[in-house]
Amino acid sequence: MQYVEVAVSVPVGLNQTFHYRVPANLSGQVSRFSRVEVPFAGRLVQGFVLGFSDPPNLKMIKDVKRVVEKQAYLNEELFQLAQWMVQRYLCSIGDALQTIAGSPAGAARVKERVIVAIDGIDGDDKLTGLVRAPKQRRALEVALASPGLKKSELAELAEVSTPVIDALLAKGLLQEVESYKKIMPDPPPRQESLQLTPEQLTVVNQLVNAINSPKPSAWLLHGVTGSGKTEVYLRAIEHTLNLGRQAIVLVPEISLTPQMVERFRSRFGDAVALLHSALSNGEKYAEKDRIRTGQAMVVLGARSAIFAPTPKLGLIIIDEEHESSYKQDESPKYHAREVALQRAALNQGVVLLGSATPAIESYCRARPGGPYGLLTMTQRIDQRPLPRVQIVDMRQELAGGNTGIFSLALQRALAQRLARQEKSILFLNRRGFASIVVCRQCGQVMKCPHCDISLTLHHDGILRCHYCGHRTANPRVCPSCGGKAIRSFGVGTQRVEEEVRRLFPDCQVLRMDADTTSRKGSHQKLLDEFSRGGGQILIGTQMIAKGLDIPQVTLVGVISADVTLHMPDFRSAERTFQLLTQVAGRAGRGEKSGEVIIQTYDPEHFSILTARNHDFLSFYHKEMTHRKALKYPPFSHLIKILFSGLNEADVIAAAEWWQDKLTAIKHECGGQEIEILGPAPAGIPKIKDRWRWQLVIKGPDSREIRNVARIALAQAGIRFKQVAVSIDVDPVSL
Ligand code: ADP
Ligand code: ZN
Repeated sequence: MQYVEVAVSVPVGLNQTFHYRVPANLSGQVSRFSRVEVPFAGRLVQGFVLGFSDPPNLKMIKDVKRVVEKQAYLNEELFQLAQWMVQRYLCSIGDALQTIAGSPAGAARVKERVIVAIDGIDGDDKLTGLVRAPKQRRALEVALASPGLKKSELAELAEVSTPVIDALLAKGLLQEVESYKKIMPDPPPRQESLQLTPEQLTVVNQLVNAINSPKPSAWLLHGVTGSGKTEVYLRAIEHTLNLGRQAIVLVPEISLTPQMVERFRSRFGDAVALLHSALSNGEKYAEKDRIRTGQAMVVLGARSAIFAPTPKLGLIIIDEEHESSYKQDESPKYHAREVALQRAALNQGVVLLGSATPAIESYCRARPGGPYGLLTMTQRIDQRPLPRVQIVDMRQELAGGNTGIFSLALQRALAQRLARQEKSILFLNRRGFASIVVCRQCGQVMKCPHCDISLTLHHDGILRCHYCGHRTANPRVCPSCGGKAIRSFGVGTQRVEEEVRRLFPDCQVLRMDADTTSRKGSHQKLLDEFSRGGGQILIGTQMIAKGLDIPQVTLVGVISADVTLHMPDFRSAERTFQLLTQVAGRAGRGEKSGEVIIQTYDPEHFSILTARNHDFLSFYHKEMTHRKALKYPPFSHLIKILFSGLNEADVIAAAEWWQDKLTAIKHECGGQEIEILGPAPAGIPKIKDRWRWQLVIKGPDSREIRNVARIALAQAGIRFKQVAVSIDVDPVSL
């Protein structure tokens, strides 16, 4: 009889692996990293086989019910990565493996037997061994250049007979594997590399050296928008492939447009595999197969592509590395950037982070003495100027009698563009999830005296800090200027559209938000319509901030910078700077120069002033001063613990129990500098009838606070049946 150890997805704090018997009818189908279905706590769950075991010393041993996959997309390296995730994100090994392997394939697809040379890295050596066998040599060359052909196809292309291929298979120089058919049509014609600018050349040379080095390394490429970062990526990838190693390129889901994909495919052809959420599980499997067998050498995808089963990973590129979408919002709440660093370490690979507005933490790590090397590109291609940015003080508009959404300056600029047949974009931040209270007369925002975080207005009319729980009544008059124009705010895209139609009845308006783009492909359709010349004004949310490259756009209006600026979050200044810079980058990408108008009640805020001057460094230094004063990251580490349940009293009770436990454990561990903040209502206090409260652990040492949380988890066990507990290590927002 065979017995296996299976990792299942269980609440953290419990044992994480369990033993099962392999019934006779399944023996031979199960091995390390098989995905199986097993009975657990009265139901059937999926888990991963970690290995065979001795007969366990148990009275009752249950049977494996079904083999879901003989081999999930896991390997020893990815298993080590999973173990790291368990330590880093306080999840179970089952959860980590589930996250890495993804969902099972679902409906079976047809596999075929194809020829691959997985050890492409030794290609040259292999070839030199074949000087006396010219036919074999030729066949091997073809197989190295075009992996994934069927045996007969390879024979035909290399103009040899199939026994020649059999000889190579027998020598182990080639392998025949079962693989899914590729999902993408043939690639577009190859486009050769561009002639690099001097800045690009310097950066590429440094990266080539790093890639050649046997040591892992990480680099931050800080390059202004339009400085040509993509060409740098392509060159670094090219060099990696020449060494027989694979590359993973992550982009935010939203920038994974057909143009982006074509740009890679026109350079690397079928060697590009695509992984993103719009693919069916079957399609993802087909792509993962091509990656695992080395038919695909470049993986282009969104966040979860960081787990691509590459056997020979050499380079990981994360474009727009500051994007919060690289953080997974379900457990395990990993950050693709941190996972990338870990995978690079496991593979002696290189990580390249690119952005025009790096995350504060990333830039801090790229300072002298830090773990990242810094690469900079300050020039736009063709010396195109950065757009001119004008800040409009909405308090003065109010004083002048204009109570509308659009300042006079923005109205004038829009009218001008319409007259000139140029395009404009109006940017509106996604309505802040919380209601922030602002004095429209002086711009004062109601803030927590302890946390310097905007207070949130709750239904009971009380203002609360959702970091520390501080509460105060909503004032009738502004504590700063005595004015009475106090209100919570947030305008929707629909309101903006109505207003545009009222002001400019004849112009064409397109609106892009979650409502108008919920259908698959509709996002791209809208953009195509706008760039083809249909619409003259595009109104949109976050979605339009990134990657949009429409040369005829000469005006970008930011309806209100305040929504992001006053998000109740310690990263709100950073988000504002990033967003304004990204949005401004949409203007003036063609021949004509661009103009940006930013409306705000807080025109002196350093995020806005530095964004106006395209001055990341000044922003960075100011923001670091704030972070240091209030001990926010990178000057501390945080863990957020979220409690949710249908009964608010239960939720609060659980949070209070945890607060006591954490405080006690902290004292036992001697972590005097650790702070336990809360319990406080979460940023969104209720979702789908579930109440949400949170605790925050803050401390100078990440390992130390994780340890405190881990001990509490073990003690909590399954104590609170009605309350879900979720752990977020290094939350991107609180
Ligand atoms: P970024 O990602 O830094 O914002 P892109 O990579 O999108 O910039 O490049 C901006 C534009 O410049 C693109 O149209 C690109 O094709 C072009 N470009 C990049 N490098 C070069 C080069 N060396 N010579 C000519 N054009 C280039
Ligand atoms: Zn507070």
